[in-house]
Amino acid sequence: MKNKFYITTAIAYPNSVPHLGHALEIVQTDVIARFHKLLGDDVWFQTGTDEHGTKNWETAKKKGKTISQFLDENVDAFKKLYKELNISYDYFIRTTDKKIHHPGAIELWNNLIKAGDIYKKKYEGLYCVGCESFKVKRELIDDKCSHHPKLKIKVVNEENYFFRLSKYKNELFEKISSDEYKVIPKKRKNEILSFLKDAKDISFSRPKKSLPWGISVPGDDEQVMYVWCDALSNYITGIGYGRDKKKFDKLWPADVHIIGKDILRFHAAFWPAMLLSANISLPKKLLVHGFILSSGAKMSKSSGNVIEPFSQIEKYGSEIFKFYLIETMPLESDGEYSEELLVERVNTELVGNLANFIYRTLSFLNKNFDGSMIIAKDDEFTDLIESKFKEAKSFYENYDLRNALNTILRISAIGNKYFQDNEPWALIKKDKKKAHEVLSLSTNLVKNLIILLKPIMPMFANNVEKQLNLKNLVFTDLNFDLKNHKIGIADILFRKIELVKSEEKKSVFSKLDLKVAKIVDVKNHPNADKLYLIELDCGEKRRIVSGLKDFYSVDDLKGKNILLLYNLQPAKIRGEKSEGMLLAADTGDKIGLLFAEKSKPGDQVFVDGISNCSKQISYKEFSEVKIKSENGKAYFEGKPLKTSSETVFVDKKVDGNIC
Ligand SMILES: [Zn+2]
Repeated sequence: MKNKFYITTAIAYPNSVPHLGHALEIVQTDVIARFHKLLGDDVWFQTGTDEHGTKNWETAKKKGKTISQFLDENVDAFKKLYKELNISYDYFIRTTDKKIHHPGAIELWNNLIKAGDIYKKKYEGLYCVGCESFKVKRELIDDKCSHHPKLKIKVVNEENYFFRLSKYKNELFEKISSDEYKVIPKKRKNEILSFLKDAKDISFSRPKKSLPWGISVPGDDEQVMYVWCDALSNYITGIGYGRDKKKFDKLWPADVHIIGKDILRFHAAFWPAMLLSANISLPKKLLVHGFILSSGAKMSKSSGNVIEPFSQIEKYGSEIFKFYLIETMPLESDGEYSEELLVERVNTELVGNLANFIYRTLSFLNKNFDGSMIIAKDDEFTDLIESKFKEAKSFYENYDLRNALNTILRISAIGNKYFQDNEPWALIKKDKKKAHEVLSLSTNLVKNLIILLKPIMPMFANNVEKQLNLKNLVFTDLNFDLKNHKIGIADILFRKIELVKSEEKKSVFSKLDLKVAKIVDVKNHPNADKLYLIELDCGEKRRIVSGLKDFYSVDDLKGKNILLLYNLQPAKIRGEKSEGMLLAADTGDKIGLLFAEKSKPGDQVFVDGISNCSKQISYKEFSEVKIKSENGKAYFEGKPLKTSSETVFVDKKVDGNIC
């Protein structure tokens, strides 16, 4: 029988599009869910949106939209983000779902009534519209809410229903301090224990006139459920409470709720007290993450330090974004998000450490041993690594994801050192069998690394799995037993990245990857009179098809250093493959090639202040980059094209467009 594992995020308040904090929480939850799937558990992962409340109602009105139109649009933005992040959730609950959610919320309310824990009382309180909650005086700073210093605190006089939180504070104190309901990290546990000592009953409903958008209180049409019974109940209604007892009994209690530190009280006091009152068992664990800061401060439009998840994904890709979120977020406190650090961590760890180890191992095995593995043993090495597996696994189990990731990266560093120390490139000449054993062990380590990384970077792991010619690896495959196996083709996994500043629009020139290439040989195209086949050395061998015949003889070309558009999509021209294109100034009747005679094959060609990317481009994209020649030099927006040793020159001083 599989263990069930029920995991939730907090439900997001869709008053606007998702921010970085939402991305962090869903990614953390996804990592834990995937980890448990790889352990073989039967995972149910629920997320969703908290859609009632005054703020949604008023924002919709302000925007001139119906409430459902407004909510649908924002919910779509959340779902789009989760899709781009490759989140493996099983169910997305919306608290406006009358079929799925409302019956359970109403049943819960009725059960609290039955227990005698709901009563009506006149109430005067301080209310923050931003938080949609009552505040006590000592929580305010200069009479303002600390989260919403610009909003006015309202004095609200109402007759509301109350829930007897005070009745359960001692029982809860016991269950939390004994870890029966485990609050992680310790800091948050202590915080909630101190709150519980003095917990008072809480307002549990609002008059319909002040909260027009919500679930009506059973038997009282004047009152609407306040957020506690309406929203917190999603964790049970989503899995069938009030409508599907079989499913509910199978999945409840939740194994872990994941929330932000700002809603600790609701999840560590109000929610479990409601469950105790309704005679429902408590969730097992509560994982509380901190905030994600930018430049040391909470992100806000007025500080200008907002980092948006969609733009980060667009710039760096979703797996790099996920890698960095996990890498930067400590278990115990707030984390700092900095794009400079993201670039540094990716280049150091993903490119320099992990991808480097994987690529050098697999390509060496392919090149020298035809990709085949043999039986190999090195107890000292494998014992050390296996103790690290246990460490990484234990960090995952305790939800310390940052340390899990760091342990994995340290294992990869040990792999790199093992490879380096054994010098297989030298060893192979002295003791071929020993070199083969080193490579077989290293390949086993590659396999293990990607199993460990699967929860965080599943697409990357799948890619390596394919290169290894393996499938569906899980945690029980963590071992050095892979032998007599032939791997597939190795490919480079990550390349160095550069910081992309949001303010500066990327120059179109950055799309070009231009390299110096030496013409090694020139032949006539077999099927076309006017075309040459040109063999090039640009650090690697390339061949292009080019229409230079009317302008340059074979002897004019041989041995020359030309400029090659290196990242042009390969094409077939009259049946011959062409990998790139050489650059020339063209007036229509005259053509002058661009030369860099003092440079070496493979040297980068650039203009000052613009960095290049290596993504493939089409000819159309290239033609949108306007490079011009003048007086024997080539310019982009007034800056000359150059290499590290010279300025590029245009043959025959042809003035025209470069194409
Ligand atoms: Zn507030």
